[in-house]
Amino acid sequence: MILQWVLQGKLQFGLADGGSDRPEAAVRLRRTHRAISNRKTSRSAAAPLSTGHDLGLSRFGSVGLCLQRLSSEIRLQAGQRGRILKALLLEGERRLSLLDIDAPVAGPGQVFVDVEVASIGGSEYLGYKNPGIRRLPNIMGHGIAGVTAEGRRVAVNPLQSCGTCDDCLRGRYQLCSSWELIGVQSNGGFAQKVVVPATALVDLPDDLSWEQAAFVEPFANSVNAWELSGADTGDTVAIVGAGGLGLGLVACAAEADCEEIAVADLSSGRLRAATELGANSVSADLTGRYDVVFDTVGSAEARQKAIALTRKSGTCVLLGFATPMLEIDAGDFIRSQKRIVGAFVYSVQHFMNAIQLVRRCRREWVTNLTFLEVEPLLLKYLDGDFSTVKAALRPNR
Ligand SMILES: [Zn+2]
Repeated sequence: MILQWVLQGKLQFGLADGGSDRPEAAVRLRRTHRAISNRKTSRSAAAPLSTGHDLGLSRFGSVGLCLQRLSSEIRLQAGQRGRILKALLLEGERRLSLLDIDAPVAGPGQVFVDVEVASIGGSEYLGYKNPGIRRLPNIMGHGIAGVTAEGRRVAVNPLQSCGTCDDCLRGRYQLCSSWELIGVQSNGGFAQKVVVPATALVDLPDDLSWEQAAFVEPFANSVNAWELSGADTGDTVAIVGAGGLGLGLVACAAEADCEEIAVADLSSGRLRAATELGANSVSADLTGRYDVVFDTVGSAEARQKAIALTRKSGTCVLLGFATPMLEIDAGDFIRSQKRIVGAFVYSVQHFMNAIQLVRRCRREWVTNLTFLEVEPLLLKYLDGDFSTVKAALRPNR
Protein backbone atom coordinates (compact mmCIF):
# COMPACT_ATOMS: atom_id res chain seq x y z
CA MET A 1 0.00 0.00 0.00
CA ILE A 2 1.32 3.40 -0.85
CA LEU A 3 0.56 6.24 1.47
CA GLN A 4 0.88 9.85 0.51
CA TRP A 5 0.93 12.72 2.86
CA VAL A 6 2.16 16.24 3.12
CA LEU A 7 4.24 17.35 6.01
CA GLN A 8 4.05 21.06 6.51
CA GLY A 9 5.47 22.50 9.66
CA LYS A 10 8.31 24.32 11.20
CA LEU A 11 11.43 22.73 12.50
CA GLN A 12 13.25 24.99 14.93
CA PHE A 13 16.98 24.57 14.66
CA GLY A 14 18.04 24.23 18.25
CA LEU A 15 21.23 26.18 17.90
CA ALA A 16 19.91 29.04 15.84
CA ASP A 17 18.86 32.20 17.57
CA GLY A 18 17.98 35.77 16.74
CA GLY A 19 20.24 38.54 15.52
CA SER A 20 20.51 37.26 12.01
CA ASP A 21 19.41 38.63 8.71
CA ARG A 22 16.64 36.08 8.73
CA PRO A 23 14.69 36.51 11.95
CA GLU A 24 12.44 33.57 11.10
CA ALA A 25 15.02 31.11 12.38
CA ALA A 26 12.70 28.29 11.63
CA VAL A 27 12.96 25.76 8.92
CA ARG A 28 9.93 25.10 6.84
CA LEU A 29 9.55 21.62 5.59
CA ARG A 30 8.29 21.56 2.10
CA ARG A 31 8.13 18.10 0.75
CA THR A 32 5.42 15.85 -0.40
CA HIS A 33 6.34 12.43 0.85
CA ARG A 34 5.62 9.07 -0.55
CA ALA A 35 6.25 6.11 1.65
CA ILE A 36 6.60 2.62 0.41
CA SER A 37 4.72 0.32 2.77
CA ASN A 38 2.12 0.86 5.42
CA ARG A 39 3.52 2.69 8.42
CA LYS A 40 0.86 1.30 10.71
CA THR A 41 2.13 -2.18 9.98
CA SER A 42 5.68 -1.06 10.51
CA ARG A 43 4.96 0.43 13.92
CA SER A 44 3.07 -2.56 15.23
CA ALA A 45 5.84 -4.85 14.06
CA ALA A 46 8.20 -2.59 15.93
CA ALA A 47 6.42 -2.76 19.26
CA PRO A 48 8.54 -5.54 20.83
CA LEU A 49 11.63 -3.38 20.40
CA SER A 50 10.67 -1.07 23.21
CA THR A 51 11.17 -3.87 25.72
CA GLY A 52 14.89 -3.48 25.17
CA HIS A 53 16.19 -6.75 23.87
CA ASP A 54 19.88 -7.41 23.65
CA LEU A 55 21.79 -5.60 20.97
CA GLY A 56 22.73 -8.00 18.27
CA LEU A 57 20.33 -10.71 19.33
CA SER A 58 17.02 -9.28 18.17
CA ARG A 59 15.33 -10.40 14.99
CA PHE A 60 12.67 -8.33 13.28
CA GLY A 61 12.31 -9.94 9.96
CA SER A 62 8.86 -8.54 9.34
CA VAL A 63 9.67 -4.90 9.93
CA GLY A 64 8.04 -3.05 7.06
CA LEU A 65 10.26 -0.84 5.01
CA CYS A 66 9.52 2.84 5.46
CA LEU A 67 11.94 4.09 2.90
CA GLN A 68 11.12 7.40 1.39
CA ARG A 69 12.63 6.98 -2.04
CA LEU A 70 12.66 10.61 -2.89
CA SER A 71 15.90 11.17 -4.68
CA SER A 72 14.32 11.33 -8.09
CA GLU A 73 11.51 13.51 -6.80
CA ILE A 74 13.49 16.20 -5.09
CA ARG A 75 13.38 19.50 -6.87
CA LEU A 76 15.39 22.18 -5.20
CA GLN A 77 13.33 25.29 -4.68
CA ALA A 78 16.12 27.79 -4.23
CA GLY A 79 15.31 31.42 -4.80
CA GLN A 80 12.25 31.84 -2.62
CA ARG A 81 13.74 31.51 0.86
CA GLY A 82 17.45 31.07 0.32
CA ARG A 83 19.47 27.90 0.06
CA ILE A 84 17.68 24.58 0.25
CA LEU A 85 19.45 21.60 1.76
CA LYS A 86 18.86 17.91 1.82
CA ALA A 87 18.50 16.42 5.27
CA LEU A 88 17.37 13.16 6.85
CA LEU A 89 14.80 13.79 9.55
CA LEU A 90 13.91 11.36 12.30
CA GLU A 91 10.18 11.90 12.73
CA GLY A 92 9.41 9.08 15.13
CA GLU A 93 10.21 5.50 15.97
CA ARG A 94 11.67 3.97 12.81
CA ARG A 95 10.56 6.92 10.70
CA LEU A 96 13.31 8.56 8.72
CA SER A 97 12.52 10.97 5.88
CA LEU A 98 14.68 12.62 3.26
CA LEU A 99 13.57 16.24 2.98
CA ASP A 100 14.42 19.54 1.39
CA ILE A 101 14.74 22.13 4.13
CA ASP A 102 15.69 25.79 4.28
CA ALA A 103 19.27 26.27 5.34
CA PRO A 104 19.58 26.88 9.08
CA VAL A 105 20.57 30.33 10.29
CA ALA A 106 23.91 30.92 11.98
CA GLY A 107 23.54 33.09 15.07
CA PRO A 108 26.27 34.95 16.93
CA GLY A 109 29.24 32.70 17.62
CA GLN A 110 27.98 30.01 15.25
CA VAL A 111 29.41 28.75 12.00
CA PHE A 112 28.29 26.64 9.07
CA VAL A 113 30.02 23.37 8.40
CA ASP A 114 29.59 21.62 5.05
CA VAL A 115 29.25 18.04 6.24
CA GLU A 116 31.75 15.72 4.59
CA VAL A 117 31.12 12.76 6.87
CA ALA A 118 28.54 11.96 9.54
CA SER A 119 29.36 8.67 11.18
CA ILE A 120 26.59 6.25 12.02
CA GLY A 121 27.01 4.52 15.35
CA GLY A 122 25.14 3.16 18.33
CA SER A 123 23.44 6.48 19.12
CA GLU A 124 21.93 6.75 15.65
CA TYR A 125 20.87 3.12 15.67
CA LEU A 126 19.28 3.46 19.11
CA GLY A 127 17.68 6.80 18.17
CA TYR A 128 16.08 5.23 15.11
CA LYS A 129 14.85 2.34 17.23
CA ASN A 130 13.53 4.59 19.98
CA PRO A 131 13.97 8.40 19.76
CA GLY A 132 14.03 8.66 23.59
CA ILE A 133 15.49 12.02 24.64
CA ARG A 134 15.56 13.38 21.08
CA ARG A 135 13.28 16.32 20.24
CA LEU A 136 11.40 15.38 17.10
CA PRO A 137 11.77 15.94 14.29
CA ASN A 138 15.51 15.53 14.74
CA ILE A 139 18.38 15.52 12.28
CA MET A 140 20.58 12.82 13.78
CA GLY A 141 24.32 12.49 13.31
CA HIS A 142 26.64 13.54 16.15
CA GLY A 143 29.94 12.31 14.69
CA ILE A 144 30.50 15.17 12.26
CA ALA A 145 33.49 16.27 10.21
CA GLY A 146 33.51 18.77 7.37
CA VAL A 147 34.70 22.08 6.01
CA THR A 148 33.89 25.61 7.19
CA ALA A 149 33.22 28.56 4.88
CA GLU A 150 36.85 29.58 5.40
CA GLY A 151 38.06 26.18 4.21
CA ARG A 152 39.04 24.77 7.62
CA ARG A 153 38.86 20.97 7.79
CA VAL A 154 37.26 20.29 11.16
CA ALA A 155 35.68 17.71 13.42
CA VAL A 156 32.78 18.86 15.58
CA ASN A 157 32.81 18.20 19.32
CA PRO A 158 29.04 17.77 19.74
CA LEU A 159 28.99 18.12 23.54
CA GLN A 160 27.36 21.38 24.65
CA SER A 161 27.15 22.43 28.30
CA CYS A 162 26.33 25.53 30.37
CA GLY A 163 29.93 26.51 31.11
CA THR A 164 29.07 27.99 34.48
CA CYS A 165 28.12 25.13 36.84
CA ASP A 166 30.61 23.51 39.24
CA ASP A 167 31.26 20.57 36.93
CA CYS A 168 31.78 22.79 33.86
CA LEU A 169 34.15 25.04 35.82
CA ARG A 170 36.16 21.92 36.72
CA GLY A 171 36.29 20.88 33.05
CA ARG A 172 33.90 17.95 33.50
CA TYR A 173 31.52 19.18 30.83
CA GLN A 174 29.80 15.83 30.35
CA LEU A 175 28.63 15.97 33.98
CA CYS A 176 26.85 19.32 33.44
CA SER A 177 23.20 18.91 34.35
CA SER A 178 22.19 20.72 31.14
CA TRP A 179 24.49 18.87 28.72
CA GLU A 180 23.30 18.36 25.16
CA LEU A 181 24.75 16.69 22.12
CA ILE A 182 24.53 18.19 18.64
CA GLY A 183 22.77 15.49 16.62
CA VAL A 184 20.79 14.22 19.62
CA GLN A 185 18.95 17.05 21.40
CA SER A 186 19.59 19.43 18.50
CA ASN A 187 20.12 18.95 14.77
CA GLY A 188 23.24 17.20 13.56
CA GLY A 189 25.13 15.94 10.58
CA PHE A 190 22.58 13.95 8.60
CA ALA A 191 22.31 17.03 6.35
CA GLN A 192 24.41 18.80 3.77
CA LYS A 193 25.17 21.62 6.23
CA VAL A 194 25.02 22.03 9.97
CA VAL A 195 25.27 25.11 12.17
CA VAL A 196 27.45 24.65 15.25
CA PRO A 197 29.12 26.91 17.82
CA ALA A 198 32.58 28.00 16.65
CA THR A 199 33.90 26.66 19.96
CA ALA A 200 32.87 23.13 18.93
CA LEU A 201 35.37 23.00 16.05
CA VAL A 202 38.51 20.89 16.32
CA ASP A 203 40.96 21.24 13.42
CA LEU A 204 41.82 18.16 11.40
CA PRO A 205 45.22 17.61 9.75
CA ASP A 206 45.21 17.98 5.96
CA ASP A 207 46.45 14.43 5.43
CA LEU A 208 43.67 12.78 7.45
CA SER A 209 41.10 11.12 5.17
CA TRP A 210 37.40 11.75 5.71
CA GLU A 211 37.02 8.03 6.36
CA GLN A 212 39.56 8.28 9.18
CA ALA A 213 37.72 11.37 10.42
CA ALA A 214 34.60 9.19 10.79
CA PHE A 215 36.38 7.48 13.70
CA VAL A 216 37.29 10.67 15.58
CA GLU A 217 34.09 11.03 17.64
CA PRO A 218 33.81 7.37 18.72
CA PHE A 219 37.54 7.25 19.46
CA ALA A 220 37.19 10.37 21.65
CA ASN A 221 34.73 8.35 23.76
CA SER A 222 37.31 5.57 23.93
CA VAL A 223 40.08 7.92 25.06
CA ASN A 224 37.89 9.16 27.93
CA ALA A 225 36.98 5.60 28.94
CA TRP A 226 40.61 4.54 28.76
CA GLU A 227 41.67 7.38 31.07
CA LEU A 228 38.91 6.59 33.56
CA SER A 229 39.85 2.90 33.62
CA GLY A 230 43.34 3.57 34.93
CA ALA A 231 44.67 0.86 32.58
CA ASP A 232 48.39 0.95 31.97
CA THR A 233 51.24 -0.83 30.24
CA GLY A 234 51.44 -4.42 31.47
CA ASP A 235 47.70 -4.73 32.11
CA THR A 236 45.69 -7.37 30.35
CA VAL A 237 42.71 -5.78 28.61
CA ALA A 238 39.48 -7.23 27.20
CA ILE A 239 37.00 -5.33 25.04
CA VAL A 240 33.45 -6.52 24.39
CA GLY A 241 32.25 -5.21 21.01
CA ALA A 242 34.47 -4.03 18.15
CA GLY A 243 32.45 -1.15 16.69
CA GLY A 244 33.83 2.39 16.76
CA LEU A 245 34.15 2.49 20.56
CA GLY A 246 35.76 -0.95 20.78
CA LEU A 247 38.23 -0.25 17.99
CA GLY A 248 39.13 3.03 19.69
CA LEU A 249 39.89 1.12 22.90
CA VAL A 250 42.08 -1.32 20.98
CA ALA A 251 43.99 1.69 19.63
CA CYS A 252 44.35 3.10 23.17
CA ALA A 253 45.60 -0.26 24.50
CA ALA A 254 48.04 -0.65 21.60
CA GLU A 255 49.30 2.89 22.15
CA ALA A 256 49.87 2.00 25.83
CA ASP A 257 51.73 -1.20 24.89
CA CYS A 258 49.44 -3.47 26.86
CA GLU A 259 50.67 -7.04 26.81
CA GLU A 260 47.34 -8.66 26.08
CA ILE A 261 44.49 -7.06 24.14
CA ALA A 262 41.52 -9.40 23.71
CA VAL A 263 38.41 -8.47 21.72
CA ALA A 264 35.02 -10.17 21.41
CA ASP A 265 32.64 -9.50 18.52
CA LEU A 266 30.39 -11.54 16.24
CA SER A 267 31.62 -9.79 13.07
CA SER A 268 34.71 -11.24 11.41
CA GLY A 269 35.29 -7.92 9.62
CA ARG A 270 35.33 -6.00 12.89
CA LEU A 271 37.65 -8.57 14.46
CA ARG A 272 40.04 -8.24 11.50
CA ALA A 273 40.09 -4.48 12.01
CA ALA A 274 40.76 -5.02 15.75
CA THR A 275 43.68 -7.29 14.89
CA GLU A 276 45.13 -4.73 12.51
CA LEU A 277 44.89 -2.11 15.27
CA GLY A 278 46.86 -4.32 17.67
CA ALA A 279 44.53 -6.86 19.31
CA ASN A 280 46.35 -10.15 19.84
CA SER A 281 43.35 -12.31 20.76
CA VAL A 282 40.01 -12.01 18.95
CA SER A 283 36.95 -14.27 18.99
CA ALA A 284 33.17 -14.36 19.14
CA ASP A 285 33.32 -15.20 22.82
CA LEU A 286 36.13 -14.54 25.31
CA THR A 287 37.02 -16.57 28.38
CA GLY A 288 39.56 -16.01 31.14
CA ARG A 289 40.11 -13.04 33.45
CA TYR A 290 41.53 -9.62 32.63
CA ASP A 291 42.79 -6.65 34.64
CA VAL A 292 40.58 -4.16 32.79
CA VAL A 293 37.47 -4.95 30.75
CA PHE A 294 35.37 -2.59 28.63
CA ASP A 295 31.79 -3.18 27.54
CA THR A 296 30.98 -1.09 24.47
CA VAL A 297 27.67 -2.83 23.69
CA GLY A 298 25.44 -2.27 26.72
CA SER A 299 23.11 -5.24 26.42
CA ALA A 300 22.39 -7.22 29.60
CA GLU A 301 24.34 -10.13 28.20
CA ALA A 302 27.35 -8.03 27.18
CA ARG A 303 27.52 -6.24 30.53
CA GLN A 304 27.35 -9.48 32.50
CA LYS A 305 29.99 -10.96 30.23
CA ALA A 306 32.28 -7.99 30.78
CA ILE A 307 31.91 -8.14 34.55
CA ALA A 308 32.56 -11.91 34.51
CA LEU A 309 35.74 -11.34 32.47
CA THR A 310 37.05 -8.88 35.06
CA ARG A 311 39.54 -10.41 37.51
CA LYS A 312 39.17 -10.00 41.27
CA SER A 313 39.84 -6.35 42.21
CA GLY A 314 39.91 -5.54 38.48
CA THR A 315 38.06 -2.73 36.71
CA CYS A 316 35.09 -3.02 34.37
CA VAL A 317 34.19 0.10 32.35
CA LEU A 318 30.70 0.46 30.88
CA LEU A 319 30.20 2.59 27.75
CA GLY A 320 27.37 0.87 25.86
CA PHE A 321 23.77 2.11 26.01
CA ALA A 322 21.72 -0.71 24.51
CA THR A 323 19.69 -1.31 27.68
CA PRO A 324 19.18 0.99 30.68
CA MET A 325 19.38 -1.47 33.58
CA LEU A 326 22.28 -3.47 34.97
CA GLU A 327 21.65 -6.74 36.77
CA ILE A 328 24.57 -8.34 38.57
CA ASP A 329 25.30 -10.99 41.18
CA ALA A 330 25.97 -8.49 43.97
CA GLY A 331 27.33 -11.14 46.34
CA ASP A 332 29.98 -12.24 43.87
CA PHE A 333 30.69 -8.63 42.94
CA ILE A 334 31.23 -7.61 46.57
CA ARG A 335 33.39 -10.59 47.48
CA SER A 336 35.58 -10.13 44.40
CA GLN A 337 36.08 -6.40 45.09
CA LYS A 338 35.65 -5.42 41.45
CA ARG A 339 35.17 -1.84 40.33
CA ILE A 340 32.53 -0.77 37.83
CA VAL A 341 33.13 2.57 36.15
CA GLY A 342 30.79 4.53 33.86
CA ALA A 343 32.30 6.48 30.97
CA PHE A 344 30.38 9.07 28.96
CA VAL A 345 31.56 11.20 26.03
CA TYR A 346 34.66 13.40 26.05
CA SER A 347 36.45 16.71 26.17
CA VAL A 348 38.20 18.72 23.45
CA GLN A 349 41.49 17.18 24.61
CA HIS A 350 40.02 13.70 24.10
CA PHE A 351 39.10 14.76 20.54
CA MET A 352 42.67 15.89 19.93
CA ASN A 353 44.07 12.60 21.25
CA ALA A 354 41.55 10.71 19.11
CA ILE A 355 42.70 12.55 15.98
CA GLN A 356 46.15 11.04 16.50
CA LEU A 357 44.75 7.55 17.13
CA VAL A 358 42.53 7.45 14.02
CA ARG A 359 45.66 7.59 11.86
CA ARG A 360 45.86 3.87 12.68
CA CYS A 361 42.52 3.27 10.91
CA ARG A 362 42.23 2.13 7.32
CA ARG A 363 39.83 4.05 5.11
CA GLU A 364 38.58 0.72 3.69
CA TRP A 365 36.90 0.00 7.03
CA VAL A 366 34.35 2.75 6.35
CA THR A 367 31.29 2.13 4.22
CA ASN A 368 30.31 5.46 2.64
CA LEU A 369 26.56 5.87 2.28
CA THR A 370 24.21 8.17 0.41
CA PHE A 371 21.15 9.62 2.17
CA LEU A 372 18.95 6.84 0.83
CA GLU A 373 21.29 4.11 2.03
CA VAL A 374 21.12 5.15 5.70
CA GLU A 375 17.75 3.66 6.58
CA PRO A 376 18.48 0.27 4.98
CA LEU A 377 21.64 0.13 7.11
CA LEU A 378 19.69 0.95 10.27
CA LEU A 379 17.16 -1.74 9.39
CA LYS A 380 20.05 -4.17 8.98
CA TYR A 381 21.21 -3.25 12.49
CA LEU A 382 17.68 -3.77 13.78
CA ASP A 383 17.81 -7.21 12.26
CA GLY A 384 20.93 -7.97 14.30
CA ASP A 385 23.45 -7.63 11.45
CA PHE A 386 26.39 -5.53 12.71
CA SER A 387 28.89 -6.80 10.17
CA THR A 388 29.69 -3.31 8.83
CA VAL A 389 32.91 -2.15 10.50
CA LYS A 390 31.94 1.53 10.32
CA ALA A 391 29.28 3.27 8.27
CA ALA A 392 29.12 6.96 7.50
CA LEU A 393 26.76 9.24 5.61
CA ARG A 394 28.52 11.37 2.99
CA PRO A 395 25.89 14.10 2.39
CA ASN A 396 27.81 16.12 -0.17
CA ARG A 397 29.35 13.38 -2.30
ZN1 LIG B 1 27.43 23.10 33.33
